[in-house]
Amino acid sequence: MKKILFIIIDGLGDRPIRELGNMTPLEAARTPNLDNLAVLSQCGLMSALGSERYPTSDEAQIAIFGYNPLTDYPGRGPIEALGIGTKLSSSEVAIRIDFGTVSDNLTIIDRRAGRIDSVVELAKAVSGIKIGGIKFFVYPGLGHRAVLVLKGKKISGKIGDSDPHKVGVKVRKIIATDNSEEAAKTATALEEYLLKSYEILKKHPINLERIKNRMLPANFLLERGAGTYFKVPSFKEKFGLSSACIAGAPLYKGIGQFLGMEIISVPGANGLVTSNLRGKFEKAVELLKSGEKRFLGRRNFDFVFLHIKATDTLGEDGNWQAKKDFIEKIDKAFTGINFLKNFIIVVTADHSTPCELKDHSKDPVPIMIYDGINRDYIKTFGERDFAAGTFKQIRGQDIMDMVMIKAKS
Ligand code: ZN
Repeated sequence: MKKILFIIIDGLGDRPIRELGNMTPLEAARTPNLDNLAVLSQCGLMSALGSERYPTSDEAQIAIFGYNPLTDYPGRGPIEALGIGTKLSSSEVAIRIDFGTVSDNLTIIDRRAGRIDSVVELAKAVSGIKIGGIKFFVYPGLGHRAVLVLKGKKISGKIGDSDPHKVGVKVRKIIATDNSEEAAKTATALEEYLLKSYEILKKHPINLERIKNRMLPANFLLERGAGTYFKVPSFKEKFGLSSACIAGAPLYKGIGQFLGMEIISVPGANGLVTSNLRGKFEKAVELLKSGEKRFLGRRNFDFVFLHIKATDTLGEDGNWQAKKDFIEKIDKAFTGINFLKNFIIVVTADHSTPCELKDHSKDPVPIMIYDGINRDYIKTFGERDFAAGTFKQIRGQDIMDMVMIKAKS
């Protein structure tokens, strides 16, 4: 059985850019190491969710790992909650929160409260409140981010967002998104909770101090992505693989956690342009090769999911130059990683994030699978060159079956 290194470069795919000589950032980037791997791999194009649906990162990656994004996906809230280390039980509802700033009539002034550094103390002030038989707990994440967990009997994640995703408009009233009694009850209690927490937050000493210092107060919980947590068969149960996840950003650790992977932290892996990419690749090799003498006694895994985030962020910024430069940085960090014997190496993206759109798109993404045997002799890692490869627009959900056949052969 071959071991598997599965690399997802978030939002890697792009469209041709005039200033790059009508090449995409990936095509324009100098990537000798990934090109070498491409020559030795089967290549092609992949669409994680097909051409119909807008690809969010979490749904696309759940599909790429062989799960059904329609039935095996609990919503963004539960995945984010797992990603910041929150323990969830089945039927608890988890919701993504951004601490924002609103005016007295609940009009949004800033969706990130002036990018406040920490909401640890503010989260404590509004955590543990009980309304209508539901208890509300707030767990802080990075910066203005947090997660709200609802515990109680007969609750539902079928509720809408309070976050209207723009400034200058009022926060939305929470509505039930199905006709169940549970959703109606949850929406009513949550609405009351958000107003109550606003009353607490606007008088909180930290916010009064911020106002005094001409900073925006973090006085409202903008919520989105509510979902009811449930368990899916783990990677071990589904594929028989002991698996590990190396990621910087919480959402991707959450995906790993949701699928029963062991979350391995690497110093300096922060999900940003400055991330310790070399450290991530070296850790992945160590986890997969720990059967070797030099790694004696170390943890051993069959499968490592390695996630790289900043390509997506730079695409959303429309910064094609920085996206190209970051791809070159990934390639450099990959030096020497691509000639591992008895390995399967998959390199792909969850979706495209074209700089011209500053958003995710349904465009297919390049994928290469190195198995040490099959190859297409395609010389460069790029969207258009890969169109000539073996894989003709495969679906995300079909990748793992293919990888498993290769791993066993
Ligand atoms: Zn993504």
